[in-house]
Amino acid sequence: MATIGDRTWSEMLDYLRSRFPHLTRSWFDSLAPTDFQHGVIRICCADAVQHKYLSEQCQGAFSEAAQAATGRLVTVAFVPVNTAPSAEGPLSFELEEGQLALNKNYTFENFVSGPCNRLPYAAGLAVAERPGQVYNPLFIHGDVGLGKTHLVQAICHQMIAQGLKRVLYISCETFTNHFVEAIERGCLHRFRDRYRHVDALVIDDIQFLAARERSREEFFHTFNALYQSQRQIILTADESPSGIPSLEERLVSRFNWGLVAIIEHPCLETRMAIVRKKAKLNCVDLPEDVVHFIAAHAESNIREIEGALTRVMAFSQQFGGVIDLDITREALGVREGEPNKSVTIQDIFQAATEHYGVRPTDLQSKRRNRSVAFPRQVCMYLARELTRLSLEEIGGYFGGRDHTTVLHAIRTIIDQRKQDEELDQNLNRMVDLLRKKVTA
Ligand code: ADP
Ligand code: MG
Repeated sequence: MATIGDRTWSEMLDYLRSRFPHLTRSWFDSLAPTDFQHGVIRICCADAVQHKYLSEQCQGAFSEAAQAATGRLVTVAFVPVNTAPSAEGPLSFELEEGQLALNKNYTFENFVSGPCNRLPYAAGLAVAERPGQVYNPLFIHGDVGLGKTHLVQAICHQMIAQGLKRVLYISCETFTNHFVEAIERGCLHRFRDRYRHVDALVIDDIQFLAARERSREEFFHTFNALYQSQRQIILTADESPSGIPSLEERLVSRFNWGLVAIIEHPCLETRMAIVRKKAKLNCVDLPEDVVHFIAAHAESNIREIEGALTRVMAFSQQFGGVIDLDITREALGVREGEPNKSVTIQDIFQAATEHYGVRPTDLQSKRRNRSVAFPRQVCMYLARELTRLSLEEIGGYFGGRDHTTVLHAIRTIIDQRKQDEELDQNLNRMVDLLRKKVTA
C-alpha cells in the first residue's frame, strides 16, 4: 500500500511546528502516516484522546501541511489505533444506492406554475428533457416553503422516467455527512466514486455548505468533474449564489455559469390554483369561496396553505366532511368581518399621493418625468417592503410594468436612501404611518 516518505512526513511536522506552534504537541513525533491513497493521507493515532484532539482541532492544519509538503491537493484522515477503521464494509452512501429519497407526490403534474415560478418551472422542464445540455448548473433559489424541493424532485422523477439511470438527489447535509464518514474511514475514493459517476447530481439547500469549508472544497471538485463531463447539476438555496454568506467567489461564479432562477412568493391566483390542486390530491371538493378564503389567508408560503387546508379538512369531520365558508372560517379561527391586517397597495397609493402630490393615475401611467417616475419608484419600493405582493404583481398595479422594472425601481430607492438622508427619513415616516394605519 502506498504511503508518504519519511522526508515528506518530517516536512509536514516542520511545517506544523513553524506555522501552527499553538496546535503542535510533542507527541506529534510518535504519530505515523499509515497509507496514502486517492488523495488522503491516513495518520494513525496512539489513543482516543489524541484522535479526538487531532480530528477536532488539527484537521485544517494537517491538511495544509500535507499540501505544502506534497505540493498536491491532498487531505488527511486521523485513524484511531485498534478501532481499525476498515475500508471494508459498505459506507452509508453505498447502502443508500438505488433508493432515492424522492417524495412521490413531488411531480411536475402536481406542481402549479404561475408568474412567481414561471422561469424556474420552464427551466426545470427543459433540464429534465435534456439533462446536461441546456442549463448547467440549474440553480433555483427562493424563500422557504415556496416549492424548491418539490420542483427539483419533479425534475428527478422526470429524468428517471426518461430512462436516466444515475440520478442522485441529496440534501446538502447528507452530502457533508457522507463526506465526513468517507474521510473518517479513509474511503474518500469511494465517496468520489459515488458522487462523480452520476448522470445528474441534485443537491438541495446548498447554502448549508457555506459553514463547511472542507465539504465545500470537495464539492468544488465534484462540481468540476461533473461539469466537465456534461453531467447535469441542480442546486437549490434560500439565497442567490452571491447572497449566500461566506461562499467563495469561485463557487459563486460557477453557480452563475448556468441559469439562476428565483421562485417568488405566489400571487393570489396561483395560491388559489394550489389550494385547488391540493384539495384534489386529497379527494375533497372545495367551493370556490372556500378556495379563495384559504388562499387569501395563507399568504406567506405554500406550506401555510397546506397547513390551513389540513386544518379545515380535519375540522370538517365533525360535520360529516362538509366544507363551507363558515366551517372554514371557524377552522382557521377567523371571525367574520375581521379586518385584513396588512398594508394594501391602495394604502401605499394614498400615502404617495398625499406626500408627493401626484394622482393615482399618474402612478399608473407611462409618464417618465421625474416628478412622477420618482414617486412611482417609491411606491414600488414600499409595496415590496410592506406587502407580500410579488414583483410581477406590483408591476401589475403600476400600469403593467414587468418585474425587472420593479426590481430596478426598488434597487434605485435602496441606493438613494443610503445617500440621501432626507429621503431616508421621509421613507421611515411613511412606513411608520402605513404600519400604524393597519394596526390602529
Ligand atoms: P422549499 O423547498 O422551497 O422550502 P417545498 O418544495 O418543500 O419548499 O414546498 C413546500 C410545500 O409546498 C410542499 O408540500 C410542496 O408540494 C408545496 N408546493 C410548493 N410550491 C408548489 C407549487 N407551485 N404547486 C404545488 N405545490 C407546491
Ligand atoms: Mg426545501
